[in-house]
Amino acid sequence: MMEEGGFIGIKKQDKAYDIENRYGYCVEEMYSSAFYNTRPEQFFEFYKKEMLLHAPEDTASGPALAAMEKAGKLQCVIDSNIYDKARRGGCRNVINLHGSIYQNQCPRCKKKYPLSYILSARRVPLCDECNIPVRPMISLIGEMVDSQNMTKTTEEITKADTLLLLGTTLASEVFKQYISYFSGENLVIIHKEAHYSDKDASMVILDHPMNVLPLLGYGEEKQENA
Ligand SMILES: [Zn+2]
Repeated sequence: MMEEGGFIGIKKQDKAYDIENRYGYCVEEMYSSAFYNTRPEQFFEFYKKEMLLHAPEDTASGPALAAMEKAGKLQCVIDSNIYDKARRGGCRNVINLHGSIYQNQCPRCKKKYPLSYILSARRVPLCDECNIPVRPMISLIGEMVDSQNMTKTTEEITKADTLLLLGTTLASEVFKQYISYFSGENLVIIHKEAHYSDKDASMVILDHPMNVLPLLGYGEEKQENA
């Protein structure tokens, strides 16, 4: 189970040109480890304004996935979106392939900080013990994806009977490699726009996952009782 977004989303929104005009650097440049290390002030200005304050709102997808998980129909969510929508919706077994904006840590003493700490910092959020920048635990361009996450993702996909691709395609740069490990029965894709690679799926539903997932009805019983 997967979905894309975050940094990729900002590129898709046609905002990239506007951002480059305002900051004097392109999105790819600013969302990189090199930029984070050499220009932390500018990095955090961009990160807070463009990535955090313009974060996409939570949708019906998260709670619908959580209901599927609770019903025993969903083993694992692999999320490439840094906004952690599945876990916020109530899913428990989630792999955040590219990290999460909700996890922030001092690289030296490992003290953890909430998102509000990053948002409320006037400039660079500093560890109150070490006085060095607190690191959002997201993968920036130029960094390796966490190897434990990669291994766990590969394991989950290898043992899956059904793979549900949400808001992405079989040609996804992020997921293509992982999908090659899938040898189960059903490969189901739910996304808005048809894609040439859809032909290799067992089933394709052309709509936003947030419109489709609640229709599976796993959350209904709970709503009736409530
Ligand atoms: Zn520290």
